[in-house]
Amino acid sequence: MKNIVVIGAGTMGNGIAHVFAQKGYAVSLVDISEDSLKKALATIEKNLDRMIAKEVIGETEKNLTLGNITTQTDIKKAAVNADLVVEAATENVDIKLQLFRDLDSICPENCVLATNTSSISITKIAAVTKRPDKVIGMHFMNPVPIMKLVEIIRGYSTSDEVSDAITKLSENLGKVPVTCNDYPGFVANRILMPMINEAIISLHEGVAGVKEIDTIMKLGMAHPMGPLQLADFIGLDVCLAILRVLYDGLGNDKYAPCPLLVNMVTAGKLGVKSGEGFYDYSKGAKAAEVSGSFM
Ligand code: NAD
Repeated sequence: MKNIVVIGAGTMGNGIAHVFAQKGYAVSLVDISEDSLKKALATIEKNLDRMIAKEVIGETEKNLTLGNITTQTDIKKAAVNADLVVEAATENVDIKLQLFRDLDSICPENCVLATNTSSISITKIAAVTKRPDKVIGMHFMNPVPIMKLVEIIRGYSTSDEVSDAITKLSENLGKVPVTCNDYPGFVANRILMPMINEAIISLHEGVAGVKEIDTIMKLGMAHPMGPLQLADFIGLDVCLAILRVLYDGLGNDKYAPCPLLVNMVTAGKLGVKSGEGFYDYSKGAKAAEVSGSFM
């Protein structure tokens, strides 16, 4: 696999493009928004500069990495020669199903279609293509250049050959692949999202404030980040979308999204990417203060 197409240039897409490009793969990064593509390139450059400052890479590696990435708004032009597509567009089932229908008709017959979805059924996505054996979940963690895990999700029809190839490829990227089966939320989010939701419910019910909840979980459980801050980094819209998949897919009230989360997403408070969530990021992520009032 040499030609990699990454669909979606948001929080995850730019990180995925970064790690492939740094390992020498030719990456075409696709988004419907020119602005997202511009921001993604700026983020990748900033992250490479940070690696230079830490003496992890040199100026030459930075330039080679950036040279391996092209951007594109036309999916047809990008995907026609793809060996592997990693889809990292918005966590919305209709968007993903349409993308996979389109990709199936554009991409070469042997191209593997992977999705970075956090929770949407791989089997459902695969079912809209004529190559369900070549559809697989390749779930990178945020921030992609730093986090080691890739959760590999086998759909009902994913072949052993494709699963082995994606496992090997993930290792080539310097990641640790771990495989699981296709059930709502897979493993990572089936366990993480109920914890984040419970933290939001605790805030909503006045059990404790934002700082208190995050500090208790950081110091008490040795988590590097509290659940409310983590939710801001993931994106509150992404958290809500995943909880809805868990709620619908598992049919249990314990996954019902907290009304406060629903309100915040409706109000456009999406966390770091919108500048405000449980914390206010207007002075940058490091200087984040607890945000105003919660309804
Ligand atoms: P995001 O909102 O930051 O970015 C999504 C991007 O997709 C946007 O730039 C948008 O313009 C683009 N997009 C939407 N429709 C498109 C289309 N039809 N074609 C091309 N581009 C399109 O979202 P994100 O947080 O990067 O999440 C992307 C995927 O990764 C989701 O499936 C999400 O569940 C998953 N994921 C997210 C995280 C996280 O921490 N945010 C972690 C792991 C996996």
